Amino acid sequence: MAPFARAFAIGIAALAIAATSAAPARCADDHVRVTLVGTGGPEINPTRFGYSTLVEAGGEKLLFDAGRGVVQRLYESRVNPREVTKIFLTHLHNDHIEGLPTLWITPWFLLARDQPLEIWGPPGTQKMVKGMREMFSDVEKRGGVNGFNKIEYMDIKAEEIGEGTVYDRNGVKVTAFKVSHGDGDPAVGYRIDYGGRVVVLSGDTVYSPNVVAAAKGADLLVHNVVGFSDAWVARPGAEKQRNAVASKLASPEQVARAFSEATPRLAVLSHIVKKDLSGRAGDDFIVQQIRKNGYNGPMLMGEDRTVIDIDAKDIKVHPPQPTDKLPDLDNRNVKLDEAP
Ligand SMILES: [Zn+2]
Repeated sequence: MAPFARAFAIGIAALAIAATSAAPARCADDHVRVTLVGTGGPEINPTRFGYSTLVEAGGEKLLFDAGRGVVQRLYESRVNPREVTKIFLTHLHNDHIEGLPTLWITPWFLLARDQPLEIWGPPGTQKMVKGMREMFSDVEKRGGVNGFNKIEYMDIKAEEIGEGTVYDRNGVKVTAFKVSHGDGDPAVGYRIDYGGRVVVLSGDTVYSPNVVAAAKGADLLVHNVVGFSDAWVARPGAEKQRNAVASKLASPEQVARAFSEATPRLAVLSHIVKKDLSGRAGDDFIVQQIRKNGYNGPMLMGEDRTVIDIDAKDIKVHPPQPTDKLPDLDNRNVKLDEAP
């Protein structure tokens, strides 16, 4: 069985939730689409790129975090990166912003992005954006060289947020809530509301009652997880390392608790960090640890580029589509959503 089908089968036995190999059609007005653009943590991994999640609703495209490889993964997900201009950051750790410079520059330079970026993030976001602009100050001198890349579209409006509603346009509301990521730096999770549908992203956190409160009965709860294989834990000195990581990210036990208390229609794992000796352990041990700790509801082990369509009746999960026939994304006229 393909990895996707196997991981999926572990979690979903019944309910109106279906895995479908059909390519997702264009996002309809009456539903919410969530694309797991990148599902990794900071590690370099052959199949998981940096953490990013795209939420589409009411004609809006909202990106949550911009991990390493985000532009590549958006393209492979048939989303033109020039259309992704609204970015919400959970916190400023490198694995959540490494893709930001590329998302800022490349669609502007090559793909005729015709609007500035808007970024929402915790305190420190404006300083980070200023630093990024200084680092890439050379790029801004290239305004106009392609005839379409106007310098005003390189602008970035950066807004520093606290808790509460941070965005409310076209019926799409985004609410931030504090989470606990261990080192004292501000970190938030996000709840997205649209047309009665609710998607909650935990961000990087250990078990957090705020995540559970935001996600109570939600359609989707996307939660981070760090899994430790038995062999990894058995090594001398492993406990100290485990405690350091476990003070920042959610263990399978904690994830099981959050999912059990929130009871979302579909629980999803993303920002998946695996600690094992070979580096090649599959995902199953994490899923098994979550099951062992008492969560028995529908659950999906996230894979990069998985698309989840949610409406009142159904949740449809589309596995990653093939990428070998995608057209090069080197000009502004490519229609990615019609690509094979
Ligand atoms: Zn992270």
